[in-house]
Amino acid sequence: MTYTLSKEHFIYAFSKDHSPVLKVTPKSTVVIDTYDCFQDQIQSNTTAVTSIDWDQINPATGPIYVEGAKAGDILKVTIDAIELGKQGVMAVGPKLGVMGHRIEQFEAKIMPIENDAAIFNEKIRIPLNPMIGVIGVAPEGDPVSCGTPGAHGGNMDTKLITTGATLYFPVFHEGALFGLGDLHAAMGDGEIGVSGIEVPAKVTVTLDVVKGKSIRYPFLENEEGLASLVSAHTLDDAAKLAVEEMIDLLLPHTDLSLNHFTMLMSAVGQSQISQIVDPLLTARFVVPQWVLDAYQIKAFQE
Ligand code: CA
Ligand code: ZN
Repeated sequence: MTYTLSKEHFIYAFSKDHSPVLKVTPKSTVVIDTYDCFQDQIQSNTTAVTSIDWDQINPATGPIYVEGAKAGDILKVTIDAIELGKQGVMAVGPKLGVMGHRIEQFEAKIMPIENDAAIFNEKIRIPLNPMIGVIGVAPEGDPVSCGTPGAHGGNMDTKLITTGATLYFPVFHEGALFGLGDLHAAMGDGEIGVSGIEVPAKVTVTLDVVKGKSIRYPFLENEEGLASLVSAHTLDDAAKLAVEEMIDLLLPHTDLSLNHFTMLMSAVGQSQISQIVDPLLTARFVVPQWVLDAYQIKAFQE
């Protein structure tokens, strides 16, 4: 079954208290329309900071209730396609991002998207790497703003979250209450200026429920391998927790001791930065597919 969901149905926080705007059965495909992270408020280079309603930021389309999903299950989200809008926008400003202590004035810049590039200027055509900034489920406790990442996903701003990837989220509440938004036409690891090339989009996902297994943080699977996605108050903590979550997931699928498995992960695993500018910082630990294949690990199959 294929559904469509318009961007008029959006949330500013992931919350167990939100009523679903769509109910789907497992294995359903949903075409989800999204605003950009400024809720499409910036349409020209001269948009003034004062003309933007900063309460209307980071809308995620949803929430979608997936039938059969119960606390302790895993929500499986396959990203089938991303169709970008015709123009993206970036913004910088005081106190925003790594350079915010030196930037004196807010400034926005519109970037037309043509063929496979975002046009930065006459010299620079930025190759597209379309990705989803905000994607997740209702968190366990209090609502979490769509600007903040966490164990429920949310604003992870991770460039691996793109077409062909499959994400796995812990389910904390019945129906999971899934949503996504904040698409980027391109973004570098770190997202140092606090924006990617922000763009409205249409995202096609297939939603499914995995029973009989639990995870504490989101994981992502792609052609290259498997990544844990962990957000914490410091990048150090995020990076270290991402390693431990991966080791806890994979070790039981091998006949290796913790000592030997740690050696293997130290030899082949990659600690990588997702973003360093959101209220919590996000790191990932990536294990190559050939290692999973060697032990025939299918971590998320029932
Ligand atoms: Ca974001
Ligand atoms: Zn964004």
